[in-house]
Amino acid sequence: MTSGSAAYERRSAAPVIAPVRPRKLAKVPFVELAEGRLQGVVSSGSDVERVYVSSITAGDHGLSCNTNNNRPCGGLSGGTRACNHLRALADAAVAQYGLDRVARYLKVTVPDGSDDLWSGLHTTTAPNRAAEVFAGFLRHLAYLEVPSTTEPLPDLHWFPAAGAVS
Ligand SMILES: [Zn+2]
Repeated sequence: MTSGSAAYERRSAAPVIAPVRPRKLAKVPFVELAEGRLQGVVSSGSDVERVYVSSITAGDHGLSCNTNNNRPCGGLSGGTRACNHLRALADAAVAQYGLDRVARYLKVTVPDGSDDLWSGLHTTTAPNRAAEVFAGFLRHLAYLEVPSTTEPLPDLHWFPAAGAVS
């Protein structure tokens, strides 16, 4: 095929949706509702080289959190009590998509008057999906590097290798 089709695929692969409200890209550089999960990448609070890959499955609310080196998260107690990374991920998703959309996707019934996604989650343990989610994150970064814009790319500030952090 021609090179034109490759460019088209790249454009269509990662739709950019304006966030409902600003969110902290440094804390959660990547969040998406995809493949039946809320999933994303959360920075470690203490180590800039480490990120956590966290996900919550739609329907059964299975929690998963592992480092990018595929080690289990120590904060995910018993596999059913959310660690700080999962909470940060959920916060970022609500900021990005709005509570209603996230709740609908995960099949969560948030009690009337509540704006806390967790109050409607009945969590369980999910299989480790860190490898596929992290691969999606890397594709997302590759998409951002497409030189079709002169605008700043705030997501890349998270990566020390991008030169944003000295
Ligand atoms: Zn965690």
